[in-house]
Amino acid sequence: DKGLAVFTSGGDSQGMNAAVRACVRMAIYLGCKVYFIREGYQGMVDGGDCIQEANWASVSSIIHRGGTIIGSARCQDFRERQGRLKAANNLIQRGITNLVVIGGDGSLTGANLFRQEWSSLLDELVKNKTITTEQQEKFNVLHIVGLVGSIDNDFCGTDMTIGTDTALHRIIEAIDAISSTAYSHQRTFIMEVMGRHCGYLALVGGLACEADFIFIPEMPPKVDWPDRLCSQLAQERSAGQRLNIVIVAEGAMDREGHPITAEDVKKVIDERLKHDARITVLGHVQRGGNPSAFDRILACRMGAEATLALMEATKDSVPVVISLDGNQAVRVPLMECVERTQAVAKAMAEKRWADAVKLRGRS
Ligand code: ATP
Repeated sequence: DKGLAVFTSGGDSQGMNAAVRACVRMAIYLGCKVYFIREGYQGMVDGGDCIQEANWASVSSIIHRGGTIIGSARCQDFRERQGRLKAANNLIQRGITNLVVIGGDGSLTGANLFRQEWSSLLDELVKNKTITTEQQEKFNVLHIVGLVGSIDNDFCGTDMTIGTDTALHRIIEAIDAISSTAYSHQRTFIMEVMGRHCGYLALVGGLACEADFIFIPEMPPKVDWPDRLCSQLAQERSAGQRLNIVIVAEGAMDREGHPITAEDVKKVIDERLKHDARITVLGHVQRGGNPSAFDRILACRMGAEATLALMEATKDSVPVVISLDGNQAVRVPLMECVERTQAVAKAMAEKRWADAVKLRGRS
C-alpha cells in the first residue's frame, strides 16, 4: 500500500508521457497507490485536484504523445520553505512518500533539497498540529528518484536524456526540407537550433545533415571565424555544391563570451560572399511532436526502473537518477550527477572568461 506520485517539472520534452505511463503501470503492478501531480511542484504546493489518483487506464494511449499530459511548470513557491511545507503536508495527507520527478537539473536539485528537509518539515507540521505524531512516524522517510527529461542532452551521468533523440529527428527533418529548396536556388541557410548552453543538438544534427559549418558553445571559434567560415563555404561551392548549411546553436559564442547569432553569421555571408543567405530558427518545433521510437522505449525503461528503485530504497539509500549507460538503464547518485552538470557549466563559463581576458591582453 505504498503511496507513489509522479510529476513532470521544468521544460517539457518528448517521451515524458511514456515515462509517466511506465512509472504508473509498474507501480500498480507492484501494488502501490499511484498519483499524478499536475503542473509540477506548483501542483504539489497547491494540492487539491492537482494531486489525483492514477489507474491503469489513465495512462492508456499516451505513449505516442509529445509534451506532458500532466502539465509542467516552474514554481517559485517551492523554492521557499513555506511552499515546501505545504507540499509536504499535501503528500502526507495522501500517504505519498515516494516521488518520481521527471525534469532537468533544477527540478532534481529541488527534489533533493526536499528530501533532505523532509524530517524537519514533518517536525514543523507536527508542531503546527497539521499532522499527527503517528503520521510523522509512519511517513518519516521520503524517497525520490529522478528521470532526466530534456531535449538538450545537457545532463552529466546519462548518455541520453529523454527527448533528445526526437528533437534530433525534428532538426534533421527540417534541415533535409530546407536543403531541397536551398539546392534549387543555390542558397545558403543558417539554421538556429536549441540546446541552451549545450551544443549537442547542433553538432549531431549538423553531422547527420552534412552541414558545412557548426557553431557550438563548447568550442568557441577563433577570432578569425568569419574568414574561416567564408573560405569553407566558398570552397564547397567551388567544388560544385549548390547549397550551404550553417548550424548555429542557440548558446553559441565567441572566445570573448559574446553571443554568435544567426544574424551575425548571415551578415558576414551577405557582405563577403554575396550568397542568397536565409535564416531559419527552428524554435519550439524541436520540442514538439510525437516522440521517436528510441525516446518511447528509453522512457519506458527508465520509468519502470525508477519505480523499482523506489520500491527497493531503504532509509539510508541516496536518491538516484535513472541513466542510460551504454545500453543499460542504471541508477546513479542524483546529486553526483547534478553537481557534475553544474561543474561543467561553471568550467565552461570560467574558460570563456579566461579566453576573454587573454584576448584582451590582460592576463
Ligand atoms: P529545464 O532543464 O527545462 O530548465 P529544470 O528542471 O532545470 O528543467 P528549473 O526551472 O531549473 O528547470 O527548475 C524547475 C523547478 O524546480 C523550479 O521552478 C523550482 O520549483 C524547482 N527548483 C529548482 N531549483 C530549486 C532549488 N534549488 N530549490 C528548490 N526548488 C528548486
